[in-house]
Amino acid sequence: MLAGQPVIILRDNVDRSRGKEAQRSNIMAAKAIAGAVRTTLGPRGMDKMLVSPGGNVVITNDGATILHEISVQHPGAKMVVEVAETQDEEVGDGTTTACILVGALMEEAERMLDQNIHPTVIANGYRLGMMKAMEILDRLTIRASGEDRDLLLKVANTAVTGKSIEAVKDRVSGMVVEAVCTVADHKEDGTVAIDEDDIFIKTMIGDHMEDAELVRGFIIDKTRVDKAMPKKMENARIALLAHALEITKTQVSAKIKITSSDQMEAFAEQERASLREMAEKIAATGATAVFCQKGIADAVQYHLAKQGIFAIQDFPEKELKFVARATGATIVNKVEDLSDDVLGTAALIEEMKDVVLTKITGCENPKTVSILLKGSSQVFVDELERAVYDAKRVVMDALEDGTYIVGGASVDTELLLGIRDYAASVGGRTQLAIEAFANVFESIPRTLAENSGYDPIDKIVELKAAHAGGQKYAGLNVYTGEIVDMFEEGVIEPLRVKKQAIQSAAEAASMLIRVDDMMITQTHRPGQ
Ligand code: ADP
Ligand code: MG
Repeated sequence: MLAGQPVIILRDNVDRSRGKEAQRSNIMAAKAIAGAVRTTLGPRGMDKMLVSPGGNVVITNDGATILHEISVQHPGAKMVVEVAETQDEEVGDGTTTACILVGALMEEAERMLDQNIHPTVIANGYRLGMMKAMEILDRLTIRASGEDRDLLLKVANTAVTGKSIEAVKDRVSGMVVEAVCTVADHKEDGTVAIDEDDIFIKTMIGDHMEDAELVRGFIIDKTRVDKAMPKKMENARIALLAHALEITKTQVSAKIKITSSDQMEAFAEQERASLREMAEKIAATGATAVFCQKGIADAVQYHLAKQGIFAIQDFPEKELKFVARATGATIVNKVEDLSDDVLGTAALIEEMKDVVLTKITGCENPKTVSILLKGSSQVFVDELERAVYDAKRVVMDALEDGTYIVGGASVDTELLLGIRDYAASVGGRTQLAIEAFANVFESIPRTLAENSGYDPIDKIVELKAAHAGGQKYAGLNVYTGEIVDMFEEGVIEPLRVKKQAIQSAAEAASMLIRVDDMMITQTHRPGQ
């Protein structure tokens, strides 16, 4: 019955490409993404200026940010962007590295596909190569249990090298390490847990980058309710209130009949008295600062100010909880619940000049801390924030795991040689795929050399020779072009960053090369 009739399986708004065409298209896309971010790799990598349709400018060196800002269309390219995003979420650094690795894996795959090596053979070789890579990394891992401040500092320094914060990197790295160590929770079983949200990064425009500071406490973008209150409060005793300091309306509606002006006056007087009483009760507990989640009535403000008490109203709930964690205060619901033991302490509460910010600092044993970054423009402080964020994440990774590796192309060269040796022991077509996986690690020294203005081939040859001679930490000094010991140079990274980059790159590449059919459904086609 169907003779001569076309059978329609796909709707006509589906774009389809298959076989070689689909594979090539994904390879091209992955290579393009890697190509877009590779010039930012390493201390001498350059930055990108990205402009949104609305004219917003972002200048950044951060792989994940670049890919986030340019909205990528191609589905294969989107997978690579996802690798970068996962990298950023899971470990906080190594995004450019991950993209470069996927690009290189796809490039190697292209070469093998040309030689008619089947995608499943390639994917299998990549899987074996990745397992070997993990083994080699474990062998190269430097273990340090507990807080090794020196190593942590080096990790932070490596993460911010080459970013806009370079000029003050020692200071900032020190602050980041101090911040992470302050909020780290050392469990009884020897493990360390750190909540990322316990370290705030706050930015303000004004002053100089050198004025960045670590605040052992909290910074809130609010100021005191009444100008008559002190601007600065030393040795503050802090009360946190979740309830309004106002006369609240009763739940049941009641009418009060007032028949004379005396009654009216008495009524108002009573209200005034109870508001004054609120302020007096607070003062009686010994509190010198009140942070209220809701409003504070004018009369209460007046009396608080008279007692020399600092107060902020409409304090956001979430922030109030952080202040509690920083100062050791307990949030209470009623003024009556305030007592000496629910008050928190801070060495200083201070309003900052020219900006709407109040600093609560010098807390005894804070569970949350803030890093305040300053700079001349929004574009600049945004990039500072990203660099400090990277540093914070890598220090957290390192402290939690206690495992470190040496960077600066040294680990990559070890991987390159180690995986190649392993491939030789496998044989067959799989050997070619594992070798290809090994080759991919050349892309890191190559890119570092290129970005620093050295001949990549020369540098790779020198690196390989050094490693073959047993110098397992030999890497590229990007400022002099010499091959040096990267451990001595202090180029240290958390193991987790490298592992994650290799694993997710290998997984994404293996997935992409097995695709031989792409069906893209369009929501709308012009003319339809
Ligand atoms: P990513 O987004 O991958 O973290 P980066 O631009 O931060 O990209 O560059 C990281 C690379 O730069 C790593 O391979 C790291 O080992 C290398 N690197 C960092 N600092 C140095 C240094 N001082 N000398 C040589 N290489 C370095
Ligand atoms: Mg980095």
